[in-house]
Amino acid sequence: MLLYKSGLKNCLNEPKIAIVSPFKFSENTTYGLGGNAIAAYLPKTIYEAKTAFDRLTLNAIPFEILGKGSNVLVSDSGISGAVISTKNLRGIVRLDKNRLLCLAGTGTGELLAYCKKRSLGGLEYLYGIPASLGGAVYMNAGVSGVAIGDNVECVRIYDGKSHVLTREMCNFAYRHSTMRDIKALILSIIVNVYDSSVEEIEERISFYKQRRNHLPKGKSCGCVFKNPEGASAGYLIEKAGLKGFKVGGVYVSDKHASFIINDGGSAGDVRALIDIVKNKVSEKFGILLDEEVVYIGDFNDFNG
Ligand SMILES: Cc1cc2nc3c(=O)[nH]c(=O)nc-3n(C[C@H](O)[C@H](O)[C@H](O)COP(=O)(O)OP(=O)(O)OC[C@H]3O[C@@H](n4cnc5c(N)ncnc54)[C@H](O)[C@@H]3O)c2cc1C
Repeated sequence: MLLYKSGLKNCLNEPKIAIVSPFKFSENTTYGLGGNAIAAYLPKTIYEAKTAFDRLTLNAIPFEILGKGSNVLVSDSGISGAVISTKNLRGIVRLDKNRLLCLAGTGTGELLAYCKKRSLGGLEYLYGIPASLGGAVYMNAGVSGVAIGDNVECVRIYDGKSHVLTREMCNFAYRHSTMRDIKALILSIIVNVYDSSVEEIEERISFYKQRRNHLPKGKSCGCVFKNPEGASAGYLIEKAGLKGFKVGGVYVSDKHASFIINDGGSAGDVRALIDIVKNKVSEKFGILLDEEVVYIGDFNDFNG
């Protein structure tokens, strides 16, 4: 283990790419939970991102990729490996009138501000989703029947080699993309937008803003569960009598039952509550809820 750790340190000590060690998931996820990774690369450019991926792969160091950490639950013990964080891999280039190239770490807020300034519409539904573009594309994030896959022209990924995936090749579906089935780093995305007046953009943003007003405040990952075909996970959880149900320092939100809020708990608490919710909903309705949240680390040690 010592050898392994010093190998990792040497490998990560190569110049040029910013490194943090240890990398605290609790400070880099919206849940504010999870242990540490030994270290993280914070590439700023495509070249650095590819180099980080290659160094970790060549040294056989296990690693996770993290965007804004708004859809992950990291175990309390963290990971014995590294992270590639895209938080500094940001930038937007206008390729032509209605096509934008975004580096994977670009935030949704940053992108919406860029679009509004240039009278470009079509992405307003991303308002309030605290994602990086890479994380949004990986998850096919969206609301009420619209999702980022609708705007994607193509995605550049890296798995030791660069590949460009067209929208069709991404197989976007409800909270799903091809990238979920492979181990690859999303480097950049080309999105399609359209000309729109600032007034129209603001109107659409306030529509989505209003829809989000009822969402719970507090530390969360948004909806923990996917909606099953033809039903709402939040409704089923509520009808199973679980609104407000607490495990340790976390609870099912009173406002939206698919949200689990962290109020001073642990990742183990969240994981235990997820299991309780799944069991209760399955007993009452015969429906097995599927998690939208992505697990990172080992959850065999949770107190469930
Ligand atoms: C308050 C709140 C509200 C939310 N509302 C919504 C909503 O309305 N709709 C919705 O769909 N989601 C919502 N979410 C969930 C979350 O914001 C989305 O799933 C988002 O797309 C995650 O992006 P991220 O950058 O935070 O990804 P992360 O949480 O960092 O990562 C999520 C997954 O994507 C992978 N990933 C991230 N970046 C890359 C990359 N560059 N290359 C390869 N893999 C990558 C990670 O490895 C991980 O598996 C909400 C979350 C919160 C906290």
